[in-house]
Amino acid sequence: MSEAKAAPDCSADSQQDAQRKAALLEELRSAIGQTTGAPLPARDAVNQAMIRHWSDAMTDFNPCYIDPDFAAKSIHGEVVAPPAMLNAWTMAGLHPPASLQGRGVDTYAKLDAAGYTSVVATNSEHDYVRYLKLGETLHHSTKLTEVSEEKATALGTGHFVTTVTEYTNDAGEVVGAMTFRILKFRPGTGRMAASAESAAPAKPRPIRPKPGISRDTGFFWDGIAQGELRIQKCDCGALHHPPMVRCPKCGTYDLGWIVASGRGKVYSHVEPVHPKIPSFDYPLIVGLIELEEGTRLLSNVIDIEDEFVEIGMDVELAIQECNGVELPVFRPARPARREDTLHFEDVAVGDRMAPCPIPITPTLIVSTAIASRDYQDVHHDRDLAIKRGSPDIFMNILTSSGLSSRYATDWAGPEAVLKNLRIRLGVPNYPYDTMTMYGEVADKGAVTNGRGPVTLKIRGTNRMGHHLTGSIDLELPSNAA
Ligand SMILES: [Zn+2]
Repeated sequence: MSEAKAAPDCSADSQQDAQRKAALLEELRSAIGQTTGAPLPARDAVNQAMIRHWSDAMTDFNPCYIDPDFAAKSIHGEVVAPPAMLNAWTMAGLHPPASLQGRGVDTYAKLDAAGYTSVVATNSEHDYVRYLKLGETLHHSTKLTEVSEEKATALGTGHFVTTVTEYTNDAGEVVGAMTFRILKFRPGTGRMAASAESAAPAKPRPIRPKPGISRDTGFFWDGIAQGELRIQKCDCGALHHPPMVRCPKCGTYDLGWIVASGRGKVYSHVEPVHPKIPSFDYPLIVGLIELEEGTRLLSNVIDIEDEFVEIGMDVELAIQECNGVELPVFRPARPARREDTLHFEDVAVGDRMAPCPIPITPTLIVSTAIASRDYQDVHHDRDLAIKRGSPDIFMNILTSSGLSSRYATDWAGPEAVLKNLRIRLGVPNYPYDTMTMYGEVADKGAVTNGRGPVTLKIRGTNRMGHHLTGSIDLELPSNAA
């Protein structure tokens, strides 16, 4: 009975609510097709200093961006800006000048006023007509193209807003475009917020067995705690691991150690699947690592999906804290940057790009945010990020684009020319995680003017899931040229 009584009030409320929402949506959608007006010039012309800052922060050392001698002999004929910097040039900066205030898309302000105050970028699609050269001034004009109905997402209820920005040079020539989609949402209304508040205290994990540390092995564990891999070495030259009491080669008890580089190769690997031991993380990859110094070490291989682990794969030391103990584990080494450029005929549909782990450090998140002139506090100020409901600072979308571009040209070579870069974001990249990039050749087109189009499918995965999924179209030189 009480239910029947309550119902009319409730439905009147929800009817009012629905009317308010419909009115807001109508108002927002009435601005579709409007632009921010005449193209606004960027604050600075394309310049080497900002490119170098970007290149350092992203560790993208493509010489076409930073080496004038190499660039002069390249397909570009001179230094060019990394294509993924497209929207970095026109960012408003930390203290937007008065002339820029009120020149943005006012849909965001209207959503703020209606309570949708939180924001997250979800899609970035760049089209590159050509690469930008030093001294060019970019101009930009943004058009609102889409406002979604209110949607319930894991982050909160909100509207997806899509804009298209066109980039022109001083002469009015179109040099690029960006389709950008963000979610404006009500903070605290999502599943993620709800589960964070109501979550039962985490069940304590069973303690992982601690390594046996003795007088003979203490130097090894002391080294790990200090971030170095110490390997026992005898004066006769023999290396031993695990450490021994006496050298089996020359018989001495007087043994020292060296600090190994931490680089090695997977000599063999195995993946225990059953029974699962609760104190370990699965999939658990056990690898016998051959160190470059010549001895072998039994360890775990992390930050890579099991099907990508290969015998002979280059790995590097990563020290992992586990139940209060620091353990030596290994992750795939970053693939070397290709110095010559792949030819169109060298690649085939289905070719895999070597996985590339990217450790997500606070330095990476902060330096790349600033290099892309993105001063949103959630990308550099941990206290404010927490206040806004995030567990920590997180990577900005320009960096996800920049790292995708780096992955493509490190694999294909410096003179691979990106035509576009489209990414969709999933879970955030928080500090102390690792994003591993995977990619493959998804398609090839027909050679024209000595260059052939190749489509890459890429994804970047961290310990929570997919951070990004996307595609890149690029052109490679053809043998026929
Ligand atoms: Zn010896």
